[in-house]
Amino acid sequence: MTPPLLALNSVEVLYDQVILAIRGISLEVPKGGMVALLGSNGAGKSTTLKAISGLLKPERGRISRGSVSFDGKVIGDSPPQDRVAMGICHVIEGRRVFEHLTPDENLEAAAPMSMSGAAVRAEKERIYEYFPRLAERRRSESGYLSGGEQQMLAIGRGLMTQPRLLMLDEPSLGLAPFLVTEIFGIIRRINAEQGLSVLLVEQNAIAALDVVSHGYLIENGRIVMHDSAEAMKANSDIKEFYLGGG
Ligand code: ATP
Repeated sequence: MTPPLLALNSVEVLYDQVILAIRGISLEVPKGGMVALLGSNGAGKSTTLKAISGLLKPERGRISRGSVSFDGKVIGDSPPQDRVAMGICHVIEGRRVFEHLTPDENLEAAAPMSMSGAAVRAEKERIYEYFPRLAERRRSESGYLSGGEQQMLAIGRGLMTQPRLLMLDEPSLGLAPFLVTEIFGIIRRINAEQGLSVLLVEQNAIAALDVVSHGYLIENGRIVMHDSAEAMKANSDIKEFYLGGG
């Protein structure tokens, strides 16, 4: 059996020495797989992603137990930039882009230093093929883009780092349902065509379970359910709490 690309083994994260934000999380993302981590506000989703990407601020939060493995190797406490180089990309919540730069400049700024000019141009075009709306706005100031376009740009910036694992934190937040469907459809296409593994963190269970193959549900820092997307959609608890009744 091929080992998963990402594996968390009983990971605990402690904030300020006392707050156990996640309490023994184990989860896997298979190579080429697309997995959702679902849960409500404050359940521990962002903390889980930060434990994977290394974005916990050492003076505030740390992994107090358990381990994170990527491609069969324990990551330990390697710095975030080393994890990016390994192929771990974390698109943080809130679609951060440089507002005074154009999408073109934003994408160029996200490219690794080692990438040649020709490779950067080719990669940008590949991203614009997936996000034609963004291509149309490529020379506008990014601050004037719509929320959906800024989210596409934030994802595009992540793709410029040539990830093997793309982790998206609440990409649907504040977007109209048709845009969520459009963006998730594009992510699904990139996953199918490029073999990119995806960990999708969402409160919007309806949209997420439509595109992933498996999901995990986190509550109060613990995984309380792990199943196929189909089974989760059919589950009465999920229906009641996350799919707006059923
Ligand atoms: P949201 O979608 O609202 O971001 P979440 O599921 O991503 O929710 P986390 O942000 O991971 O949840 O938060 C999990 C718990 O850890 C919460 O109780 C939160 O208050 C706490 N927490 C998060 N960040 C910190 C921090 N920097 N210092 C102290 N406690 C924190």
